[in-house]
Amino acid sequence: MKITDVECHIVVDPGLREDATSSAQDDLIVIVRTDEGIFGVGETDTGPWLAKAAIEAPGSHSMAQGVKELLIGRDPLDTSAIWETLYTSTAMSGRRGPVICAMGAIDMALWDIKGKALGLPVYKLLGGALKESITPYASLQPSGGTVQEYGDSLVAWANRAAEYGFEAAKLECTLGGPYNHEGLQGTDEEMTDIIRDCRRAVGPEFTLMVDVQYLWYDAKSALRTISKWEGLDIFFVETPLRIDNLEGYAFLAREAPMRIAAGEWQTTRFEFIDLMDKGQIDVVQPDIGRVGGLTEAMRVCNLAQDRGRLVVPHCWKTAIGIAAAAHLAAVLPHCPFIEFLPSHLCDSQLRAELVELLLEMEEGSLRLPDKPGLGIELNFDALDKFSIEESAGDSPGQGVANQ
Ligand SMILES: [Mg+2]
Repeated sequence: MKITDVECHIVVDPGLREDATSSAQDDLIVIVRTDEGIFGVGETDTGPWLAKAAIEAPGSHSMAQGVKELLIGRDPLDTSAIWETLYTSTAMSGRRGPVICAMGAIDMALWDIKGKALGLPVYKLLGGALKESITPYASLQPSGGTVQEYGDSLVAWANRAAEYGFEAAKLECTLGGPYNHEGLQGTDEEMTDIIRDCRRAVGPEFTLMVDVQYLWYDAKSALRTISKWEGLDIFFVETPLRIDNLEGYAFLAREAPMRIAAGEWQTTRFEFIDLMDKGQIDVVQPDIGRVGGLTEAMRVCNLAQDRGRLVVPHCWKTAIGIAAAAHLAAVLPHCPFIEFLPSHLCDSQLRAELVELLLEMEEGSLRLPDKPGLGIELNFDALDKFSIEESAGDSPGQGVANQ
């Protein structure tokens, strides 16, 4: 089998809000086609224009070759060999950032092809399932123009998640820092009150995590507040500090009363080695499309297992990435949850319409996807509807959706 084409589709949610801290509003969908008619689908979580350019840009010299050009004619089953070719042959332009994100979408699509070609679900190809079901957690994003409304909305979301059958949820509670909700400012004490209200609402058995989205600048300020959450039984606190403050992360990992999680932005295992060995974090959160695909995510997970750390993958795009995360989680003993939000609990139209996930939640668990490949169905009508017709200089606000 040979790769014959790599299609890149930029899709944008018609309701995109540029002030919203949510990357579920756009996507790069990559379709890898073969001479046997089998195709694979992948996606990545980064600026879709950048990732598309990283794939389609022609190469020049031996250290900065073109990704798409390198793929045409290759056997799509050679996932590790292709990863090495792409990494080495783009070393001067790639190694981290958008090129790795682009490679992540491609690698995801190659695993989809491999599963379809062999008639097996991807988790079988990754070594076989260790569990019969996967536990999802719901990421809850509050809304509101005041701290009171924001807190009330988060409590309402927590109640909805519990009513829906979730046994775990992550509170996106950020009243400051660079990615706070619509510039809403609040105090650390108000955040603590909101988290306490959410715990009260869902009861003691429910697993709660908190994502503060890089809120604090210094580790001691972070510690001062998260120490007060000790009695609230928080499973982890995600990204309390700016991501390059590895000494700060190491301090928090040592001193905080709960696990510290990070990694949604990291590309390649090498950035995770830094996060684990210098930053000493307890929970790594590779996003499969960003980190470099399933091939690279498995390496990160193996490195985390060697160090006795947990893995909880980041996943905020469509069911393509959710499916990839489910297959990954199935084969890992140290991955207790995946991030999963059913489309009707999410206001992203892309999440709702682009991809059908053949994965249903029952009693707080997801059964393993058992269809060949990733086990997803791309809706080509929706792909066409949300695709941006590009012209030079298009941005989400300026591009024209094909509606
Ligand atoms: Mg996060």
